[in-house]
Amino acid sequence: MLVYIAGSGAMGSTIGYHIEKNTDSRVILLDYWQDHIDKINENGLMVSGKVEDKIKIKAMRPEEAEEEADLIVVMTKSMALEAMMEAIKGIIGEKTQILCLLNGMGHEKILEKFVDKNQINMGVTIWAAGLTGPGQIEITGKGTIDVQNIGDDEENGRKIARLLDKAGLGAKYDNDVMFAIWRKVMVNGTMNSMTSLMECTIGEFFDSSRSKDIISELVKEFTEVGRAEGIDLDKKEMLEYIYKTAEEAKDHHPSMYQDLIERNRKTEIDFINGAVVEKGKAHNIATPYNKIVTQLIHAKEDIRGAK
Ligand code: NAD
Repeated sequence: MLVYIAGSGAMGSTIGYHIEKNTDSRVILLDYWQDHIDKINENGLMVSGKVEDKIKIKAMRPEEAEEEADLIVVMTKSMALEAMMEAIKGIIGEKTQILCLLNGMGHEKILEKFVDKNQINMGVTIWAAGLTGPGQIEITGKGTIDVQNIGDDEENGRKIARLLDKAGLGAKYDNDVMFAIWRKVMVNGTMNSMTSLMECTIGEFFDSSRSKDIISELVKEFTEVGRAEGIDLDKKEMLEYIYKTAEEAKDHHPSMYQDLIERNRKTEIDFINGAVVEKGKAHNIATPYNKIVTQLIHAKEDIRGAK
């Protein structure tokens, strides 16, 4: 099986590493960061953190890929997904399956512009990784992956889940992956955006006397819109999940904080808090807290000249 990873930053390389290392599939990492590609091709992919390894794996630019894919795992940042799909059109055949594990909501609508719904598998992962330099990833947290085919091709969805599980990624087929995606979006939409705005750790924000009300309002909007979309979300249950996750990660700065505050990079806010605002409009549900959070993050990107 030929597997491409379209967008081979921290998470893409983590997934590519596991599949190449532990299965018979051939993996090709696609990315635009030339130094990263060169280092991987010259020295192999260096892996540190929860796994210490070095692996020979092929890397190239998206436009250089020619062979038709069996599976493409898209792993760009949300804002770069459409351009990546455009760039790799040539390797997508009728039998090519796409797996999307990006954080946030609404990516399936982008994918549907390029492939049939039966070729789309949505997923969510709680693995955690970072880049320590070109050709170097650090796996900071081992996790799981949930996958579901959003068309009628459950068989292929299950095949992908089995491949990822064999790769050691703790994967399973999930008949309600949208629930898992919305739940993770709520975690990101409270922790990531608020710690980026307040420039603090997760624990510092969640311990502050004002945070309870803000988190409660954000989650209320998420659950109302989610329910209108047919996702069975309970506000109390979601709040419990978010507080439990926050407690476990209290000393950390989430990825959005690292991107915006530490690296001056643009955020995925339009696919997190911004996505619930857009979906809310379609259902006539007001989402003032998520709207202001989205606007403030964009203002912060502007002020900092984030790229
Ligand atoms: P990333 O920032 O590591 O990589 C994204 C892209 O940016 C890649 O193409 C990468 O090559 C490029 N890039 C990164 N640093 C660069 C540099 N210094 N110079 C030039 N290019 C550079 O992104 P990621 O963390 O892999 O995230 C991909 C998706 O996975 C996102 O939707 C994210 O929310 C999601 N996700 C990430 C994690 C995580 O722990 N990293 C966990 C779950 C989900």
